[in-house]
Amino acid sequence: MGTATEEIAAKGLLPRPASMVDGVYDGIYEKLMSLEIAPGARIPIDVIARDMNVSQTPVREALSRLEREGLVRKAHLIGYSAAPLLTRKQFDDLYTFRLLLEPEGARLAALRMTPEALALLEAAAADMGHGAAPVDRTSRYSRFARADAHFHDAILQIAGNEVIRSTLFNQHVHLHLFRLMFHTRVTQEALEEHENLLAAFRAGDAPAAQARMSEHIARSRSRLLSAFE
Ligand SMILES: [Zn+2]
Repeated sequence: MGTATEEIAAKGLLPRPASMVDGVYDGIYEKLMSLEIAPGARIPIDVIARDMNVSQTPVREALSRLEREGLVRKAHLIGYSAAPLLTRKQFDDLYTFRLLLEPEGARLAALRMTPEALALLEAAAADMGHGAAPVDRTSRYSRFARADAHFHDAILQIAGNEVIRSTLFNQHVHLHLFRLMFHTRVTQEALEEHENLLAAFRAGDAPAAQARMSEHIARSRSRLLSAFE
């Protein structure tokens, strides 16, 4: 177990040398998030390998990582396919679940906040705002989804309740929610809400952190709800 910075780096938030599998993973991940690979569409390993000019091994590895995140599915004799989008029911259930846990997580995080932890959160938030040399809209949006997941997870790590953290983390909520809709409004408004949340953490105001997180999740829900219209 390394430092928190190393942990975040290991999850891909900070720049690090990209391995072959990482590159293949990112390529397929972006196509899934932008729906260039349609929900339910088959993902033939040989075709992907040929398109990306790599062997089948890194493609298999990338796909099994995506399967753990619930973005692709594997069926016996059929192989991999893109996971279906969330249904309206799953969407509602996820937000109810987030609203139960994350405001309390933010409150606990504010109570346990240290200057080091705050510096990490500020860095995570800044990373989301600028991104690492975003090449295009698709990449920027897909990276934002992941960076947002890391930001929220970092808050729950600071909160120190491992049951809350792992329960949310294992749902990969951000990837599934962001995949519903591809819109820059989603990212701009979220950045402002994150800034409000950071202000509460800076002030050491636990009730405010709880309230700002509640607002952020409720607003995120109404932004993404239009995906079902
Ligand atoms: Zn967020």
